[in-house]
Amino acid sequence: MLAHPDDAETMAGGTLLTWARRGDRITLCLITDGDKGTSDPDDTREAVVARRTVEQERAAARLGADVLRLGYADGELQPTIELRRDIVRVIREVRPDLVLTNDPTTWFRHGTYINHPDHRIAGHACVEALYPAVKKASYFPELGLEPHVVAEVWLGLTDHPDAYVDITDVLADKIDLICEHTSQFEPANTRLAFTRIAAAAGQPRGLAAAEAFRTLRLARSTVQALAGSHAPGNQD
Ligand SMILES: [Zn+2]
Repeated sequence: MLAHPDDAETMAGGTLLTWARRGDRITLCLITDGDKGTSDPDDTREAVVARRTVEQERAAARLGADVLRLGYADGELQPTIELRRDIVRVIREVRPDLVLTNDPTTWFRHGTYINHPDHRIAGHACVEALYPAVKKASYFPELGLEPHVVAEVWLGLTDHPDAYVDITDVLADKIDLICEHTSQFEPANTRLAFTRIAAAAGQPRGLAAAEAFRTLRLARSTVQALAGSHAPGNQD
């Protein structure tokens, strides 16, 4: 559940490749259509969306992922009840075991840049959809969809990582995924930048290349977690 057409590949491309290759089904839900992703003042919104959709479809095909698009405007995302309902609908339809989105608490990164507000809001809206709405039938009954329990949530672009995925063997493939977004990334600089990012992410665990996430295991109740039990359960 991500804001922009290239967010899955840049934030978690190595992890998603690893999961896809072990046989997991991957569905990318893109909340905006990335229509602000241009520096050409003569570009129309339609032209940008068409270009980025083609690029994203190529990347998704290379990854082996299905794609859903919610069609919100790029750069204008807000945590509205309409967005929460749309996310609940997608999660109840797709019924994933794991949801990957942005850490909604990340305002800044590395003391050098401000996180894109769409990233924060995508994570914010997704977290609010996951609890309690997705799993309680009394929320959005008009959708006519069965509630669903998501077992795990992984949050990327985080300052509080607790899970490190070794992407050493798939780093080159991750960069190829990113480079499918030809209007956004220049190959030589992208290769250099994402090799450095992966090395920095892996450094705390001695990995040559990694992606790091903050994780939640929702299918355990607070009581069970405190007791150290691994039995599934939910806390309402
Ligand atoms: Zn983005």
